[in-house]
Amino acid sequence: MDCIFCKIIKGEIPSSKVYEDEEFIVIKDVNPQAPVHLLAIPKEHFASVAELNDERAVVVGKMMKKLAEIGGDNGLDDGFRIITNKGKHGCQSVSHLHLHLLGGRQLDEKMG
Ligand code: 5GP
Ligand code: ZN
Repeated sequence: MDCIFCKIIKGEIPSSKVYEDEEFIVIKDVNPQAPVHLLAIPKEHFASVAELNDERAVVVGKMMKKLAEIGGDNGLDDGFRIITNKGKHGCQSVSHLHLHLLGGRQLDEKMG
């Protein structure tokens, strides 16, 4: 399968890894849109939140928890944003579910 995030997980493409366990990785986004821009990516390939089941939802919950911890560790005391994009209208560009952590500056009030 030609999935860039699966290749990163397998180590076939280099990435700046912040955290890894048996279920997911956290890496720095290659094209950061904020001073802190991280991606949490499950090791199991599935496209988006539309393909969640109960087991996957537990992993995604752990990913959110870890991103919030990392945000605290990176001094994002004034806040941050965690988002996931789905499909064309959501501007999803990589079809392997991932959560974005954005912070380190005042983010836009408008999310759309
Ligand atoms: P999406 O638009 O699908 O929600 O987000 C995909 C994100 O993956 C983008 O923010 C993009 O910069 C990031 N990205 C795409 N290719 C790579 C890559 O090879 N390495 C890393 N670290 N990030 C990538
Ligand atoms: Zn994948």
